[in-house]
Amino acid sequence: MAVREAAVDLINYINRSPSPYHAVAEAIKVLKKVGYQRLDESADWKLTPGGMYYMTRNASTLIAFALGEKFAAGNPCQLIGAHTDSPCLRVKQRSKHTSVGYSLVKSECYGGGIWATWFDRDLKLAGKVIVKGENNALTSRLAHIDRPILHIPTLAIHLDRTVNEAFKFNKEEQLIPVLGLIEKELGGEVEKKVTGVEKQQQSFTKHHDTKLLKLLSEHLGCAGDDIIGFDLCLADVMPGSLAGVDEEFVMAPRQDNLVNAWAGTHALAKHSVSGSSTAAVLCLYDHEEVGSQSAHGAGTELTNLVLQRLSGNNSELLAKCIAKSFLLSADQVHAVHPNYVSKHESNFQPAVNGGICMKHNSNQRYATTAMGAALLRELALRNDIPLQEVMVRNDSPCGSTIGPIMSAKTALRTVDLGCPQLSMHSIREMGGAKDPYHAVRLYKAFYEQFAGIDAASTDETCDETFI
Ligand SMILES: [Zn+2]
Repeated sequence: MAVREAAVDLINYINRSPSPYHAVAEAIKVLKKVGYQRLDESADWKLTPGGMYYMTRNASTLIAFALGEKFAAGNPCQLIGAHTDSPCLRVKQRSKHTSVGYSLVKSECYGGGIWATWFDRDLKLAGKVIVKGENNALTSRLAHIDRPILHIPTLAIHLDRTVNEAFKFNKEEQLIPVLGLIEKELGGEVEKKVTGVEKQQQSFTKHHDTKLLKLLSEHLGCAGDDIIGFDLCLADVMPGSLAGVDEEFVMAPRQDNLVNAWAGTHALAKHSVSGSSTAAVLCLYDHEEVGSQSAHGAGTELTNLVLQRLSGNNSELLAKCIAKSFLLSADQVHAVHPNYVSKHESNFQPAVNGGICMKHNSNQRYATTAMGAALLRELALRNDIPLQEVMVRNDSPCGSTIGPIMSAKTALRTVDLGCPQLSMHSIREMGGAKDPYHAVRLYKAFYEQFAGIDAASTDETCDETFI
């Protein structure tokens, strides 16, 4: 995949992935094309060397792995971890709301978004819908209604002359998306025909606008009152695009962290199991933006359970595997901002399109160690892949990632890295058009060459031979 082709493919992935559920479904499409097989987490796993597998949790977390042809239990695994979620508004479980003739959809703030950027945008809906089918069986379905449905209007400057000094709003009262206007006669008719809410006063549907349910039921081809649950994200309808005078930028939402979800998926899809004695693992976790502490967040036992199964459920082999394995925690990085240069440490100014950037923080906001960083530098050098580094100022807050969480949970050695971008957590983020290409190359090289570089190094300074 050439540089521009990679950026365009990334943009298409982001456009098709307005929710974590879609990010997982789209990644699976890529893996299935090259022969990955689904595993049922609740069944026995029959794994064979050379096999390529994936499993999901909550449909918003994906773990995929390729076993080398010469893989045996206890051998090292190279893991890449990224996250599928991004800050967004999500439809509340009781969303119905009206005000002065408008129908609105109450929505919850998920994660630390720059919510001001959500005003005056055309918003679509996407996520998971739970539908009751034959014999009352519940199934979850993907929904993506890709047209402008919702909108959060700003207040005119004539009614607030201070808006350009400080744009302030209450997240409960002024961040409510408008769905439409209330048409009383039509509303009654729609309600009767689609949902039958008059018979189901205790149902899920009565708490949502009937037109919202009609949209969903028509989209899914089911009856309105068969919808008995959902997790729906709001997203900007404006597709991502290449931009800048030389098309050097990617302008798109959710680059944190779909850039790395996409790059990890393609690195794994391109990875060859032939001749390999290690396992290449991709962990795409949900819930990073809210702390990762859930059954399908990076703080779960799931990574351990998978490594245990790859080690033949043998604790001695698992311990050996963990000691020799390595995790790349791949998440986006703050590029140096041309209008806020003083916010960045003067020795570390990650450039957009300057390549993947390794993150250091001895306070363990990032999990990179001295040897881990050196191994990555060596890997990048051998493959002629640009590698940048970043640390925050001592007087600046520092973000964090799934790196320290997964590292502490699994005892895996870890390096934190990612592509530099601007406008992180805005509804529209700004990244580089070359970095996605560099990311795929580095992650693929990690899967294929890291174990060799690692095996030739020693990291025990207390060993008598080093004193
Ligand atoms: Zn992130």
